Amino acid sequence: MKPQYPEHPMPADGMTRRAVAPVVCYPVDGLPQPDLPALQAARAGWTLLSETRAAPREACTFTVPAGHYFRILSVDGPQVGDLNLWNAADLAERFYSGKTRALHGTHLSTGDRMWSAFPHLRPMATITDDTLDWYGFDAFGGAVHDVIGTRCDPYTHNLLSHGGQYHHCCHSNLTRALADHTGLSVQGAEPYVHDVLNVFMCTGFMRDTGQYFMKASPVRPGDYIEFFAEIDLLGALSACPGGDCSAQHSSDVAACHPLLVQVFAPKAPPIGWTPPARNGYDRSHVA
Ligand SMILES: [Zn+2]
Repeated sequence: MKPQYPEHPMPADGMTRRAVAPVVCYPVDGLPQPDLPALQAARAGWTLLSETRAAPREACTFTVPAGHYFRILSVDGPQVGDLNLWNAADLAERFYSGKTRALHGTHLSTGDRMWSAFPHLRPMATITDDTLDWYGFDAFGGAVHDVIGTRCDPYTHNLLSHGGQYHHCCHSNLTRALADHTGLSVQGAEPYVHDVLNVFMCTGFMRDTGQYFMKASPVRPGDYIEFFAEIDLLGALSACPGGDCSAQHSSDVAACHPLLVQVFAPKAPPIGWTPPARNGYDRSHVA
């Protein structure tokens, strides 16, 4: 955090320096754009292929073929979820929360994409619907579906609780679910678990200190966020022990609800859509 009483005085031109206007680091207009109307039109007459439920304080896995869709739905009560995505054929290609944040901002909604890690850096999924898009940014600077938190985990909890051992943080839930799906041991699966998309979670940064905050999610049963799979996907979704994350996580205190994942097959692929190629950089790293 920035010091309340800085050790170094402001230079004479300090206010001028502060007044310089920012520029957007990565104008996304230059990126390959999804044809959102085509992706949305291809949903007409789709077929529900599967439903998978993440139990409270647990995670589930699901697979989505390229060109299909999946929805994460709130059922029973307000609940946030932590989402991991991998290339179904290659766990090394996984969701890159940091670059997605740099490209699309702190919180995602319809039209944004979930990008994969280097050296792949291509869209894994495109958001095609979000019933909470009305929320925008609230007076605290909070918004839903963030890529700024990481995932609740037992290591940070251990530090903050002076030695606590809690086994149902999203990090552990995702680790167990991935181990179950792949046959890896939990220790073998853990390194593949990565920073998440915090589905339905309402978060932001405190204006005075810059600290990460959470507040009660506005999600209600029936709300959903919907994705189009650009490549064959393996997903894992944890129903966070924080419930709606209005008070605390990393414990069994909060009221916790399940989350539902639905996978849909369209009648035909979206018109004009082709799976994205891996990134075109030649990886020589030298001139
Ligand atoms: Zn969590």
